[in-house]
Amino acid sequence: MSTFLLEIVTPERIVYAEQVDMVSVKGVEGELGILPGHIPMVTPLQIAPVTIKRGSQHELVAVNGGFIEVRKDKVVILAESAELPIDIDVDRAQAAKQRAEQRLQTKRNEIDHHRAQLALQRALNRLDTRQR
Ligand code: ATP
Repeated sequence: MSTFLLEIVTPERIVYAEQVDMVSVKGVEGELGILPGHIPMVTPLQIAPVTIKRGSQHELVAVNGGFIEVRKDKVVILAESAELPIDIDVDRAQAAKQRAEQRLQTKRNEIDHHRAQLALQRALNRLDTRQR
């Protein structure tokens, strides 16, 4: 079976770079499964785990929004932050979740509310990715 290069990149580092069989992402318009030879495209991603099939392995990466770009030569996921399960600090994510939930309970302006909601989604994404 043919493979393609998948790179997951943040402003800080290359989180993942491997030849893979398939990657599944949650785009803003729904689930997307990318196989070798997919037509080139760019689409924004939701804050959600990305699932990867590599040989007999299934891998997960917590990807916090960003974009997926399918090119002819490779697939690139660009996000503000992304972590492999092994790199996720559960205590930190739980603390971030609590902080965000407290912020959402107090009455605040729309911008702060939106920020807290995004922080909550990142924390839940990390906990979900780590647990699966
Ligand atoms: P926090 O409030 O705990 O900083 P955050 O969602 O605001 O969480 P980000 O701005 O998304 O954090 O990420 C900042 C950096 O910290 C990134 O490099 C990200 O990978 C890392 N990071 C954030 N939370 C965790 C975590 N729970 N485990 C491991 N790395 C994390």
